[in-house]
Amino acid sequence: MVAYLRRRLRWKLFLSYLAVVFVGGIVLIVAMEFAIPRAFARHLATMGMIGSDHMMVDGAPTDHMADDLFVQFRTAVTEATLIALSAATLIAVVASAIISRRVIAPVREMMVASSQIALGNYGRRVALPAHRPIADLDEMGQLADSFNQMAAQLEESDTIRRELIGDVTHELTTPLTVIKGSMEGLIDGVLPPETETFQQVAHEADRLQRLVTDLQELSRVEAGAYELHPKPVDLGQLTESVTRSLRRQFEDKGVRLQLHSPSGLLMAEIDPDRISQVLINLVGNALQYTPSGGQVDVTVQRKNSNAQFTVADTGTGIAADDLPHLFTRFYRVDKSRARTSGGSGIGLTIARYFVEAHNGRLWAESDGLGQGSMFAFVLPLMIERR
Ligand code: ADP
Repeated sequence: MVAYLRRRLRWKLFLSYLAVVFVGGIVLIVAMEFAIPRAFARHLATMGMIGSDHMMVDGAPTDHMADDLFVQFRTAVTEATLIALSAATLIAVVASAIISRRVIAPVREMMVASSQIALGNYGRRVALPAHRPIADLDEMGQLADSFNQMAAQLEESDTIRRELIGDVTHELTTPLTVIKGSMEGLIDGVLPPETETFQQVAHEADRLQRLVTDLQELSRVEAGAYELHPKPVDLGQLTESVTRSLRRQFEDKGVRLQLHSPSGLLMAEIDPDRISQVLINLVGNALQYTPSGGQVDVTVQRKNSNAQFTVADTGTGIAADDLPHLFTRFYRVDKSRARTSGGSGIGLTIARYFVEAHNGRLWAESDGLGQGSMFAFVLPLMIERR
């Protein structure tokens, strides 16, 4: 019984109100016993009804009329006290019921919701008063709002986790199927043990390895588990060295690579390895999606207090519908072609993370399929000291 009461906030509230009423009652009774007879006698004395020599030792009047008056007065005070105590008890019952409904109902709702969330039902929310701004809610309302925000975050992470597992499974399936099929064919003697067969297996194993490396990088970046090592870098020089490292591949494919860099210094406080990685990804993609005979222009220039990098190609272009999704991981415009050319659709996602980690912005533009594409990003320049 005691344990039951201890676990119920409503009863605790009621009992604490009752304790207040009880203490109030005791104080009143004590006051009546000690203070009232003296005060009554003093009052009668000042009214001239009894003389000071008529007073008894304990302070009660001895005079018959005064005695009568005192008894009546005491009865009236006792009745008034009893009525006051009953009213206070009633108010305690009503107040504890109202307060417990206002406080306990939302707490109980949150308890139910949190146990539902613990069971994996991440869509569960607690009800908030409609049409009222959060700032106008009381502490319980604000707690409910924080609870809902927490549930929304959990739901989002769970969705990302599910999608990631789905995407990764999907990405792993194709190369594994090819490798397994080829090996079974070789074992059964259906496939000839030729260089071409082994090359195909090796090619798929390479894809698996690339995918695993990309995934490791993605998980590090998404968890923010990487460190930037910023230092002052001349962006013109950095772009020059990136394009130099890729020039050979452009020549092999027959795509022209043009670099437009500023004549003076363009200094920014960046991690050169990460920004080189972003540039390599963009220029590499431009080469991949531009057929032989096309051109890729890499430009780095000052734009107000920023440096802007652009990589423009005359390649396949991107449909307007695809543009907003390019930076979503595993998104590829042409899935079947990207699969043969080995892209996993992670590069741009990582590139955007790195640019944003430098307080920059990365975006893509294209006039549509066959119209070429332009990828650009801006980075804040170092403040010049005069
Ligand atoms: P991937 O490894 O597949 O290249 P990315 O994240 O780098 O992954 O690119 C995502 C998708 O964006 C690519 O699969 C491709 O469809 C599209 N894309 C990227 N760069 C270009 C480009 N220069 N021209 C046309 N499409 C591009």
